[in-house]
Amino acid sequence: MKKGKNNKKLYMGVDVGGTKILAALVKQSGAVAARKRRPTPRDVSPEAVLLAIMEVMDELLAEEEIDKKSLRAVGMAVPGVVDPEEGKIVVTPNMNLSGLEAVSHIRERFDAPVVLGNDVNFGTQGERWLGAARFASSAVGIFVGTGIGGGIIEDGRLVRGSREAAGEIGHIVMSIDGPVCGCGNRGCLEALASRSAIEREIRQAIAKGRKSILTRIAGKDLEIIRSRMLNQALQQGDKLVTEVVRGAAQMLGYACLTVRRLLDPEVIVLGGGVIEACGDFMMPIIEQVVSTDALPGARGGGRIVRSVLGDDAVVLGAVAAAQEHIGRQPMQVAAKSLPKYPKIDATKLGEVVIDGRTYRQDVYIRADGRIKARNKTGVQKRYGTSHEIGPEEVKKICKKNPEILIIGTGQKGMAGFTAEGQEMLRRKGIACLSLPTPQAIREYNRIKGRKAMLIHVTR
Ligand SMILES: [Zn+2]
Repeated sequence: MKKGKNNKKLYMGVDVGGTKILAALVKQSGAVAARKRRPTPRDVSPEAVLLAIMEVMDELLAEEEIDKKSLRAVGMAVPGVVDPEEGKIVVTPNMNLSGLEAVSHIRERFDAPVVLGNDVNFGTQGERWLGAARFASSAVGIFVGTGIGGGIIEDGRLVRGSREAAGEIGHIVMSIDGPVCGCGNRGCLEALASRSAIEREIRQAIAKGRKSILTRIAGKDLEIIRSRMLNQALQQGDKLVTEVVRGAAQMLGYACLTVRRLLDPEVIVLGGGVIEACGDFMMPIIEQVVSTDALPGARGGGRIVRSVLGDDAVVLGAVAAAQEHIGRQPMQVAAKSLPKYPKIDATKLGEVVIDGRTYRQDVYIRADGRIKARNKTGVQKRYGTSHEIGPEEVKKICKKNPEILIIGTGQKGMAGFTAEGQEMLRRKGIACLSLPTPQAIREYNRIKGRKAMLIHVTR
């Protein structure tokens, strides 16, 4: 990106983690202009980590030939508890940044306002701004990686708690005499369903003589089992890994139930390295636990979805917070010249009524509001069934740049994306909502942004 007058509206989001530092230059709209990452230095003082952070920021600006004067604000995320008023990192359990007065240093060096926050809180805000929780007024993020973190959004605002410690979903106790957690308690969700917990269980089982192909993939000593190695083992049908990861997914399902009991959010977003890598296997199990909820009236509650922003969720959330810090309101989608969208009135088996007209076939509504018939025979020819939504079709439906695509999957929820279809949505940065047609219609009528919809009519 070269110098230009638009560069005056650039923000920087920085995600400082135990293994990597990721900095991103982000436009006001949330479009990521450039990224830079490097490993976090290990076993050094907090000041040395701070230097590394500022070096990454400097390098990113230099590479993009951007003067630091162009930076309007900086948002920085750390894995721990922060004191945003004092601009200080209070404690980071898994890395050495505790006590660091990060904000004043960065503000001085980059001559821009700086806001500091917890990484999963920012991650949840990122998903709310531009990802899977877009347009939701309440959302809970659960991020499963080395540990498990969470973030809560109510009425569009982050719930921080009286001591900045709300949303510690990883440390709700799921099993009173379960394994000891890093926090000192027993049986926390983190001790049962994080990557470290999965790793521990697999190691213990192998020590007791169970076989697993992981010893081949990760090496005999199993020092680090990465999330993608777990996925590899799942793909190859490894019994032990399947069993352990299934157990973790079930725990996450029960944690989602707990979240629903307490907060009943519109959306629960699941993200983090473990979900990124093993989500295809885990999400159906999580959904199944939630759907078998026996509490009367609990069914049909909030959606449970997968993060769509991946690694960018945290930096984008940091940028959203940085914008709020300087008085902007990025979350409030500007009601900028949206087209007039049709109203979908009703659906029953075999038909759907849009703006008073009855359609007895699959239709889609583009982001410019135009209604088009779906070429079902073409899809059938290609995939053998009309239930598959592939990249060719995603391209057609998403022609006029929707921010969100809503899929009415039929009365019984039959239709869904192919892997390539999903990948295309991800690349285009379009959020997606797949629901049985009646619920999907309710969502379509409710959602205010630039939207597109495909309605599968069960016949
Ligand atoms: Zn704990």
